[in-house]
Amino acid sequence: MKLLIGGLWADAASGREEDVTSPFDGSVVGSVALAGREDVDRALDAATEGARAWRRTPAHQRMQVLLRAAALADERAEAIAQTISAEAGKAIGEARGEASRSGELIRLAAFEGTQLYGDSLPLDANPGTGFDKVGFTVRQPVGVVVAITPFNYPSLLVLHKVAPALAAGNAVVLKPARTTPLTALALAACFVDAGLPEGVLSVLTGAGGELGDALVSDPRVNKISFTGSTPVGTRITQLAGVKKLSLELGASCPVIVLPDADIDAAAAAVALGGFVNAGQVCISVQRVITHPTIAGDFLDALVPRVERITTGDPRSTDTAMGTLITEQEAERVERSIRAAVRDGATVLTGGERDGAVISPAVVSGVDPASPFSQDELFGPAVAVSTAADWQSAIAQANGTAYGLGAGIFTSDVSGAVRAVRELDTGTIHINWTPLWRADLMPYGGLKGSGIGKEGPRSAVAEMTDVKTVILHGRPW
Ligand code: NAD
Repeated sequence: MKLLIGGLWADAASGREEDVTSPFDGSVVGSVALAGREDVDRALDAATEGARAWRRTPAHQRMQVLLRAAALADERAEAIAQTISAEAGKAIGEARGEASRSGELIRLAAFEGTQLYGDSLPLDANPGTGFDKVGFTVRQPVGVVVAITPFNYPSLLVLHKVAPALAAGNAVVLKPARTTPLTALALAACFVDAGLPEGVLSVLTGAGGELGDALVSDPRVNKISFTGSTPVGTRITQLAGVKKLSLELGASCPVIVLPDADIDAAAAAVALGGFVNAGQVCISVQRVITHPTIAGDFLDALVPRVERITTGDPRSTDTAMGTLITEQEAERVERSIRAAVRDGATVLTGGERDGAVISPAVVSGVDPASPFSQDELFGPAVAVSTAADWQSAIAQANGTAYGLGAGIFTSDVSGAVRAVRELDTGTIHINWTPLWRADLMPYGGLKGSGIGKEGPRSAVAEMTDVKTVILHGRPW
């Protein structure tokens, strides 16, 4: 497939292309153009022009374009799901679930683009000369937004950036993950076919490092919206200079199971929350912290459930869990599990690799200070440890560099309220795991998990600038 440069399909300046392959069997799924620095230049020139025209398009007209794109995403949902499953190895049932949310997410963003309200400023509340003046704020699009997205939700994570940015009146240059470019191009086609004007949307497929560095350091860019790993996010902060920046980064999400919890319900939720998309979700359950008195019962309830998760060919509806994104990633997860065992942990089930598939694993007796707890795993394994009291459970949950999501299972409302205050994470779930998201909710991490919030309303706020306007009357 071609690049999208300013709304027009185009070959890469170099003429180079590369194959996109299935992580399950290595078969060729498609091919994409390999963008280079010249294409970055073409896309940013187009975006600079496009941003000027699009911001002058009234919000209700922008909304109509997005609503048409949403309808096309609905119509094409099955094809998008097949593409996600083929290039990401995601089980087809999960891929259909993801694709089915695309149209609604665009509609949510389309609406938020019409809600660019400002504030009226009570200037006379300050001592001074405020009484003869009227002040208010207006919001306007930031201009050119660079969106850089990861592989794990190739539709939703693209749309969480592109749709609010367009709805708010910005031009966007999207750089999707190298492993999952076809989904991004299929979504871009929905916007183009919906009548998005030229200049406003570009999609550059190719190598993250080369394209990413050129995009984030370019002075024509007003805002960078990045979702991906913490190392790449950190590099972006070093190259970006003075630009607006949103970062949705890595995590090692904890779940606390207290003695007064419904143990069975907690086990059922963890058996889901640790293994959706083969654990390749930033809000996946990586760590479970239980009280020692219930650890045995919890594991007895968890392990058989995890053993029932079917793996294999992502195209089959009998497969619940597909592959990791590459065989190398599966090897990395396999090595991490082996290292945890060397650090004293026990594998109760799973952890075996077959190509890019890892069987769902439960690992108990994990040292909370070990890399298996501290570093993001991004794979289908849950690490179980114990904490003797409430305070140490919270300390363990908070005891990593990350702070994206957390869950706590308890029947005590007061304890739940206390946990809300004390857990250092962007999202907290009472009696569920962090692996739950409504697309409209504010979503983003604390600490090393990032900067800023997504969700259409928050993203539109972050993709607009606030200007303050003061009307000066004569003193009277
Ligand atoms: P990644 O960081 O390897 O890649 C993300 C994107 O950055 C890709 O498009 C990649 O090509 C690009 N990139 C690579 N080098 C770059 C550079 N130097 N400059 C700019 N861009 C560059 O991440 P991934 O492996 O695709 O995704 C997995 C990671 O994403 C995990 O760490 C996961 O936690 C994180 N993630 C976070 C959230 C969240 O909401 N916090 C959501 C999903 C995924």
